[in-house]
Amino acid sequence: MNREDFLILGQEVYKKPLVYFDNAATTQKPEMVISALADYYRTINSNIHRGVHYLSQKATEEFEVARKAVRDFIHAAHDYEIVFTRGATESINLVASSFGRTYIHEGDEIVISEMEHHSNIVPWQFLCEDRGAKLKVIPFSDNGTLCVEKLEELLTPKTKILAVTHVSNTLGTINPVKEIIRIAHAHNVPVMIDGAQAVAHCPVDVQDLDCDFYCFSGHKMYAPMGVGIMYGKERWLNEMKPYQGGGEMISTVTFEKTTYNELPYKFEAGTPAVGDVIGLRKAIEYMQGVGIQNIAKHENELLQYGTQELKKIEGMRIIGEAQNKAAVISFLVGNAHPYDMGVLLDHQGIAVRTGHHCTQPIMDHFHIPGTVRASFALYNTKEEIDILVKAVQKAAQMLM
Ligand code: PLP
Repeated sequence: MNREDFLILGQEVYKKPLVYFDNAATTQKPEMVISALADYYRTINSNIHRGVHYLSQKATEEFEVARKAVRDFIHAAHDYEIVFTRGATESINLVASSFGRTYIHEGDEIVISEMEHHSNIVPWQFLCEDRGAKLKVIPFSDNGTLCVEKLEELLTPKTKILAVTHVSNTLGTINPVKEIIRIAHAHNVPVMIDGAQAVAHCPVDVQDLDCDFYCFSGHKMYAPMGVGIMYGKERWLNEMKPYQGGGEMISTVTFEKTTYNELPYKFEAGTPAVGDVIGLRKAIEYMQGVGIQNIAKHENELLQYGTQELKKIEGMRIIGEAQNKAAVISFLVGNAHPYDMGVLLDHQGIAVRTGHHCTQPIMDHFHIPGTVRASFALYNTKEEIDILVKAVQKAAQMLM
């Protein structure tokens, strides 16, 4: 599927064809994204919103067109509900900080889940520490399914927000976020979804989900590094205090008092990554060209095939076997250390990730130090999975 659009994939490493299975960490970028980035710097590079000159107006125009593209992509109601950040991590920190400073007080409770990336744990811990609030955790079962039935008992009149991942970067679990949001809303609890691992793999409609916030990164969806998105419902964004202070986010500044700019600029202090945002628009166009449903179908076939073939290896243990999964396979073989396995696979030209994947509570759940993780994208093939399976077999023989 459109592999020739990704020139990086055509290379050899250690004289072996590169097999890139580290897509949950970051995806590769198609030529049209790379060209858009280079074209931006060659033709209209300029600071935005403030300039009266031609280049500044052009760059501003392109930047705002990209905002509309993101809005359409996630089906938000308004352009100004789309806030550009540096990535999912900054988006989550923005929500925790701004929502927290506005609404969280001593004794309040925040609910997250046991399968969160550290980016969706630590910002809430900061907040709890600052405000004297309490963190509560929805557990998952041993096959990696979130225990949604436990949610009701965790929600209390003190719960002020629930933050949960759409797709687990380690287990691959696709959480039933629409159902979770429905339950939380029935308790008047707003919900933030960490969509970092979802947006490139399944259609997302924030209005249909009815989430209050949805955070993600561009670089995990074929866009350049350095740009992320924080979607927030207008109602919250209007009420919330700004995240960072600086240029662009103000309306008037005097030493006595500062008033804030309108949405979304209130949350976009400083110079944004204009070229990266323009690249993000191209990445969205690229994915829409392939068709997000086609991507989901192709990746699901890879997931089914990869799981079936890897399971044939003696001593194979797959971590995360929820019924509804995205194309992420975390595994261990016998007593082979995941790091050693990763190094041996690398020597076969295969890029996988090893370690705790910034989800140490998941490792604690299974009492393991880490896993090997193969994660697929639209350009991966079954032939590459065959190469992986052979290489894992070979590595396992050497390590056990
Ligand atoms: N949330 C999840 C589920 C992730 O997988 C990641 C990155 O791996 C993040 C958040 C953080 O994304 P970023 O490093 O792009 O800010």
